[in-house]
Amino acid sequence: MSFPQIDDIILKLTDEITVRVLNTLLDHKEIIDEEIVNILNADLGEPQENEAEEKESSRIALKMVRKSLYQLNERSLARYRRVRDKETGYFVYYWSPIWERIRDLIISRRKLSLKKLRQRLDYEQRNLLYVCDEGHTPVTFSDAFELGFICTTCGKELAQKENQQTIEFLKAKIKELEEVLPSGLEELKALEEMRER
Ligand SMILES: [Zn+2]
Repeated sequence: MSFPQIDDIILKLTDEITVRVLNTLLDHKEIIDEEIVNILNADLGEPQENEAEEKESSRIALKMVRKSLYQLNERSLARYRRVRDKETGYFVYYWSPIWERIRDLIISRRKLSLKKLRQRLDYEQRNLLYVCDEGHTPVTFSDAFELGFICTTCGKELAQKENQQTIEFLKAKIKELEEVLPSGLEELKALEEMRER
């Protein structure tokens, strides 16, 4: 199972492998690092001695998965349970996701997006913008006045911009986020409860 909302947030904070590692954690109640490696490399099959370079380079190594797990642990998004293997004497780490923290992260990121959108909407509603017909960086009236109504990028004339479309777009986006804020969390909660069983 994959949550695009989690993927986007984690990708901004870390990297693509960490996103895949976290998704693997979300699919399991508890899992060891070597199993994660096997799952991520499953579609590549068992490693062969004379493996083609291209295939070998796309294989995810244990140390990469461990690095991702540490990153997730540092951000309190994953935890481990350490057990000593009686036969080898080595420690085995059983990893699991920290649902509460993942939920909190999603909530805070969404709230931040919502705040930025509202600020942008407020700005658009308060300021009439001026832009050239190429659509280069829109500026406020006072900036346009100082520039002599000439675009700094292309030198064309700056004219008042119809920003009604932008305003409608922002309003729709805000409404969408406001609606998805609680419902997306319900979805996460249901999955979390399912895993706890
Ligand atoms: Zn321009």
